[in-house]
Amino acid sequence: MNTKILTPTDENIWLAAQTLREGGLVGMPTETVYGLGGDALNEEAIRAIFAAKARPADNPLIIHVPSIQAAEGLCEISDVSRRLMCAFCPGPLTLLMPKKPIIPAVANAGLDSVAIRIPSHPVALQLLEMSGVPVAAPSANTSGKPSPTTAMHVYHDLYGKLPIILDGGACQVGLESTVLDMTAEVPTVLRPGGITPELLLTVLPEVRVSDSVLRPLKEGEKALSPGMRYRHYAPSGQLTLVKGEQSNVEHLCKKMYQDTVNVGRSARILAFEEHLPAYEGQSVLSIGSLSRPETIAHKLFAVLRQIDDEKIDILTCEILPAEGIGLAIMNRLSRAAAFHVIDADAIVGFVDTRR
Ligand code: AMP
Ligand code: MG
Repeated sequence: MNTKILTPTDENIWLAAQTLREGGLVGMPTETVYGLGGDALNEEAIRAIFAAKARPADNPLIIHVPSIQAAEGLCEISDVSRRLMCAFCPGPLTLLMPKKPIIPAVANAGLDSVAIRIPSHPVALQLLEMSGVPVAAPSANTSGKPSPTTAMHVYHDLYGKLPIILDGGACQVGLESTVLDMTAEVPTVLRPGGITPELLLTVLPEVRVSDSVLRPLKEGEKALSPGMRYRHYAPSGQLTLVKGEQSNVEHLCKKMYQDTVNVGRSARILAFEEHLPAYEGQSVLSIGSLSRPETIAHKLFAVLRQIDDEKIDILTCEILPAEGIGLAIMNRLSRAAAFHVIDADAIVGFVDTRR
């Protein structure tokens, strides 16, 4: 199959909507990441999504609709869920709600809940409205790779597996949606994203954040969100997160860089825009501005893809506080680093006392 990247004119969005109605797949821009869309009520289309991504069948899909009214046909919406939807949808928030029987088991891994989202990207909304079908759309990447934030990322991963990718430009948020479990006793964030716990607390009296957001699952522990089990976002080189006092972080990142280069291997430091001057002379890449963390979210997956393409052996990365959008960034970075974190204060201090 030939894959075409199309500009999102009315005509091309109509063509994509027609493809969805006929059971075909479409790469679609959203404000979070690009989605691989298919008719959520068409079992064959759902199976094609899982096959194209090589996604494990027990990892359920998020279903996209253009309005609360369209969501009503698919799930039971409580008063609290409705309040959240009125406050944050369209936007980067996915709610897990009790499903209605119309949802095919292949789409939600046979669970009692279904994940529903109303995206705010104008092209996604127009496509959903024109197609008239609910659209199951996981991130349009090969399973395990960083999520795609440009049409070219989708093309790179899925060429030949779908006929159309609508090019809506670089995704504004850059990280996948917040997944909030509304079937839990207290609404629980299973995956942090653009709608932060702090924002949710402006509507909800209480919000929990799942323990597994910033730590690996223990042996035999059940994942509340099946997607959390899988290795994710990881570049092929070894990524280490470095925490601690800034001067110690810089010292350690430079030392690891130099040690790696000295033995003839490739290395790169990932640092915040504000700290770039400290790494002069080393191969350093900006991951965005610490004072504007939304810029980090916006470019993180593109940076992870770049270092993967360049086949860098050893990578060190500065970290930021897990607050606000920082929680979502640290969730993705921790998984990309396979939870490998070094405390520069302990190591640099250790070296100093031995001198
Ligand atoms: P993606 O499609 O790549 O954005 O990933 C969707 C995420 O939502 C994955 O982590 C899924 O495991 C999670 N998810 C979707 N539906 C459900 C559900 N019904 N229950 C729990 N987690 C879900
Ligand atoms: Mg994904």
